[in-house]
Amino acid sequence: MNINKLVRDNIRLLKPYSCARNEFRGEASIYLDANENPMNTPYNRYPDPLQESLKAKIATLKGVRPSQIMLGVGSDEPIDLVIRIFCEPQQDNIVAIDPTYGMYQVCADINNVAYRKMLLNEDFTLDAARLLATADEHTKVIFLCSPNNPTGNLLNRHEMRKIAERFAGIVVIDEAYIDFSSEASWLTTLDNYPNVIVLQTFSKAWGLASVRCGMAFASEEIIGYFNKVKYPYNINLLTQNFVCEQLAFESRKNNWVKMLLEQRALLADQLKTLPVVEHIYPSDANFVLVKVADANKLYNRLVDKGIIVRNRNAVSLCAGCLRITVGTQDENRQLIKEMQSLK
Ligand SMILES: *Cc1c(COP(=O)(O)O)cnc(C)c1O
Repeated sequence: MNINKLVRDNIRLLKPYSCARNEFRGEASIYLDANENPMNTPYNRYPDPLQESLKAKIATLKGVRPSQIMLGVGSDEPIDLVIRIFCEPQQDNIVAIDPTYGMYQVCADINNVAYRKMLLNEDFTLDAARLLATADEHTKVIFLCSPNNPTGNLLNRHEMRKIAERFAGIVVIDEAYIDFSSEASWLTTLDNYPNVIVLQTFSKAWGLASVRCGMAFASEEIIGYFNKVKYPYNINLLTQNFVCEQLAFESRKNNWVKMLLEQRALLADQLKTLPVVEHIYPSDANFVLVKVADANKLYNRLVDKGIIVRNRNAVSLCAGCLRITVGTQDENRQLIKEMQSLK
């Protein structure tokens, strides 16, 4: 697998911006190199462009090397960067499962890169052979999302492995919901797959969506390209420090996950008893996809009651479906109560 050959020529040849914090590394007593204001410590200084102390903590937590980590402004940043690094506009293409997370297509469209959707099976399972047949010599990136949004299911690991092994390009595995699933992350086998990029985020299980911090894990070579292309100071000091602090509360995160998994089971049991509910899809995430009698009508009536779910009626394979995030016990109870009263 030659990663260099997959990279766009202009990116491979790019001479990246060299900021003051890159040119001098180490400790000094007087900094007069970055045109910073000497007052207002510590906010007057540009932050560490490679977030070394935060990455050291994340590396320990995730069992990877710091050099295998890129931090982004949410997972959305690495999604965009992957496309900009590997896909030549109007020439290369991307293959992704359908339905899935909407940002892959938006980023492809913004970058003017063709986006090929490969419909999942009716039960939302993945057929690796069919997906690989959708790719051609111009396919540079395949997006997989497991557990998948909005369907909620983990993709079959054996099928995913076939794709990672047989596809001569980049395979992005979006694990935004991995904390809620019973299966191990792809991070445990990252070293065996030089073409795989695993995405995780602080936005879901860690309860930090407002902070905008996402993680990409990959080979040192791929991370090197991310670092070359990203904005030098993409993660500000407040975010770096705050996420560092929050990492000390891993057990609290684990307790939230446990509570949400209990609530997910309870919510599914209660939804089953409602006449409007036709099917509840099994979930490995912190939401459930539910097929109902009239999704648009139910959605609007819930809005009138001040309860907002996600209407997925217009999404491939999801006709008639609402995506319901698991809330607190009280929030879930109120949802069920309102759904009971709507005949
Ligand atoms: C919510 C979600 C994310 C998280 O995006 P952030 O930019 O990190 O908040 C990523 N991927 C999927 C599939 C998601 O549903």
